[in-house]
Amino acid sequence: MAMKDYEFWFVVGSQLLYGPEVLETVDTRAKEMADKMNAGGLLPCKMVYKLTAKSPEEIGKLVKDANYDDRCAGVIMWMHTFSPSKMWINGLKELQKPYCHFATQYNREIPNDEIDMDFMNLNQAAHGDREHGFIGARLRMKRKVIAGYWQDEDVQKRLGSWMRAAVGAAFSKTLKVMRFGDNMRNVAVTEGDKVETQTKLGWQVNTWPVGTLVEYISAVTDAETEALMRELDEKYEIRTDRLENVRYQAKAEIAIKKMLDQEGCKAYTNTFEDLYGMEQLPGLASQRLMEQGYGYGGEGDWKVSAMTAVIKAMSEGLTGGTTFMEDYTYDLTKGREYSLGAHMLEVCPSVAAAKPRIEVHPLGIGGKADPARLVFEGREGPAIVVSLIDMGGRLRLICQDIECVKPIYEMPNLPVARVMWKAMPDLLTGAEAWITAGGAHHTVLTYDITAEQMSDWANMMDIEFVHITKDTKIEALEHDLFLADLAWKLK
Ligand code: MN
Repeated sequence: MAMKDYEFWFVVGSQLLYGPEVLETVDTRAKEMADKMNAGGLLPCKMVYKLTAKSPEEIGKLVKDANYDDRCAGVIMWMHTFSPSKMWINGLKELQKPYCHFATQYNREIPNDEIDMDFMNLNQAAHGDREHGFIGARLRMKRKVIAGYWQDEDVQKRLGSWMRAAVGAAFSKTLKVMRFGDNMRNVAVTEGDKVETQTKLGWQVNTWPVGTLVEYISAVTDAETEALMRELDEKYEIRTDRLENVRYQAKAEIAIKKMLDQEGCKAYTNTFEDLYGMEQLPGLASQRLMEQGYGYGGEGDWKVSAMTAVIKAMSEGLTGGTTFMEDYTYDLTKGREYSLGAHMLEVCPSVAAAKPRIEVHPLGIGGKADPARLVFEGREGPAIVVSLIDMGGRLRLICQDIECVKPIYEMPNLPVARVMWKAMPDLLTGAEAWITAGGAHHTVLTYDITAEQMSDWANMMDIEFVHITKDTKIEALEHDLFLADLAWKLK
């Protein structure tokens, strides 16, 4: 499902105490609020007003309907009047969708002359939302609390941002990952418990033979290949005479895409150690597939592949870019300390600052023909890098704030796409924090999704979240990790 196909159900709390007139007003206003917020253009998905809740039966039914409806990616609740929250307990206990408590108010100002006790009885969100907040806390509900005036742009943006995280949660629950070959031999961080991961995140991670992919590549027709070659020529600058090597990547792209689509997979992995029967490691092919929204992870890293797909689903329609990434090397010159990120080949061109070039160069490992790849520099601007690791018994999502810069060197002999960034709080403390938390060398780098959205997503999936920011101090981080270890053992 695309972003626009998802709905968020708006449920407004009240009770029967105030008489039908108040309830009619609440109902009319809730409709108006949903209509106006939808028309504002800041919500990526439709907000559907469903109900003014007055009884446990109504709430119970609504929750069952929400759980059952695939289009419903979350519920947004707001208490227009006081709504005694014992009537919410049974329903909330059954809720399986992400839940946002939107603490707002119909009117912005207190009307000085008009305010009387009727006004107070109708407009008591400040009081009703506290009763509702208590029951959320008391039930230990996973929820997002957003407080603000519903007509304000920044408030609608926050709601929209949370919606994207919830779409990431819905996407996760149906995500299938295709593996060609196993993880790279002896590597630890790309391993993980696939049963535990599926239980928590929903990801179905399974393997397919490289030999089947080889058959699919052989079956690609000349007409299909030439059509894609024309597209490549229009979209990128072809800076090589070795068009046969480019053609092989075009065939690999068509073949991998066919297999992914037939199996309903939105992400895949491969490894240079298992390319039996293939002429090249897919480089250009993997870059192009990422650009089309598929997740990818090198060296059999299915966790980073799935995370790339999830973040791409969350950021649908945004234009900053999201890619599989790897920390490669540092510039430790004092005063301009940067990380240089790249991969052997596979960086998504959605992050390119200018038109990418198709080039053909030797790879050095894998023992195959020289692969065609897209070469470019990543764009400047704030971004995050994200790594999901398996701690044994639980998953930890690590997120670091970074500031991408124009690469400070031209690096004419480096034949791969590259991004250069300053890690927060600074390169060395940032590296110490990342290494202390156990973050992988593989990450997802995104300019479109924020750390708050990743935190929301981790909360929805019920996994640990570690955020390295401009304010991170190693001692405090170590303390947090120690406490988290204890807390997650108790859960
Ligand atoms: Mn790698």
